[in-house]
Amino acid sequence: MSLSHGRPMVSIPGPSVIPDRVLSAMHRPMPNIYEGELIDVSFSVQDDLKKIARTEQPVFISVSNGHGAWEMAISNTLSRGDKVLVLESGTFAVGWGEMAAVSGVKAEVLPGADPEAVSVEGLEERLKADIGHEISAIMVVQVDTATSVRNDIPAIRAAMDAANHPALLMVDCIASLGCEPYEHDEWGVDITVAATQKGLMVPPGLGFVFASEKALHAHASADLRTGYFDWEPRANPGQHYQIYCGTPPIQHLWAMREALDMLFEEGIDNVWKRHEILASAVRAAVEAWSCPNGLSFNIADPRSRSNSVTTVLTGDVDASELRRVAETEAGLTLGIGLDEFVSRAFRIGHMGHLNPPMVLGTIGTIEAVLTKMKAPVGGSGSAAAAAVISSAL
Ligand SMILES: *Cc1c(COP(=O)(O)O)cnc(C)c1O
Repeated sequence: MSLSHGRPMVSIPGPSVIPDRVLSAMHRPMPNIYEGELIDVSFSVQDDLKKIARTEQPVFISVSNGHGAWEMAISNTLSRGDKVLVLESGTFAVGWGEMAAVSGVKAEVLPGADPEAVSVEGLEERLKADIGHEISAIMVVQVDTATSVRNDIPAIRAAMDAANHPALLMVDCIASLGCEPYEHDEWGVDITVAATQKGLMVPPGLGFVFASEKALHAHASADLRTGYFDWEPRANPGQHYQIYCGTPPIQHLWAMREALDMLFEEGIDNVWKRHEILASAVRAAVEAWSCPNGLSFNIADPRSRSNSVTTVLTGDVDASELRRVAETEAGLTLGIGLDEFVSRAFRIGHMGHLNPPMVLGTIGTIEAVLTKMKAPVGGSGSAAAAAVISSAL
């Protein structure tokens, strides 16, 4: 006998829960791809994505997961022999830098004091030392989905400006677009990379690259450009499908259209606020559970904890067993700890299509499993999370 029947709750940090409206929107037969409704939807999705990233600059769509969008960003703006400075704050920026290195770009990692946000002082110092401006681009994530740290992108921009450095600022927002406040234009970001399956509530399969004028200028001389990802024909398509370098990702476009409608119906400021409140409820629970030898936050500084994912260290508690019991006995899937964290951390995704019963269900279920495992806990996470929700109602 197991209680894990009913609708499964998948609280991993992407892919996130897909709204029924989005699933239904995808359930349609193939249309004409050369003219008609699909083309209007395709343009409206591009226009509205720009409103989510807060930019007037173009967006390019890769039919791929986030890694494909990473490669699209690299190949369209960099050349062999260029150097990128990778700001370490977990796994993902480093992975992006490694991808650049495979393409023939020199990738220097500015080590972070893991697990902490990027040090803007360290960045400014490194950039000031780069007198010959060898560094062509800075690569950073807004939210690192492994550590659950949130970096301060405006502060990073300010450090670049203080050093008077001309590098492109490239930001991976795959885990944060639609969850955390973000301003591509106002913050002076040159490349923003995003993908469908996290805050944007659509199945994995599309990546987005927003490019500033400066990034478009770099594109003109980038020698890593490839036939498939090259922005040139995508920006100036003879036929609409050339925006996608082939058959458009039809189902994903309908899904994105529906998801964008939902985001606009709610209002993006309200979407950000909802994420902040629900994330605060999760954090209140982790705070309450925290105790010696038991659970604790991976990110010590509360200002650097993200609103889309929380990485919880488990001390003496076996994280793999906790996840196993939650999933098999109670229908709750939690995120694994990445890399060195597998048996001593788990992650709670709180991005996208999420409301209090979903968050409180996740928290209450974790608490039940902790009790069953006789894990040490400081206090009731459920009560603490409910109190946060209560004060926001
Ligand atoms: C999920 C994620 C990626 C990778 O996206 P894929 O779609 O799995 O390729 C990259 N960066 C961040 C910050 C992510 O959260």
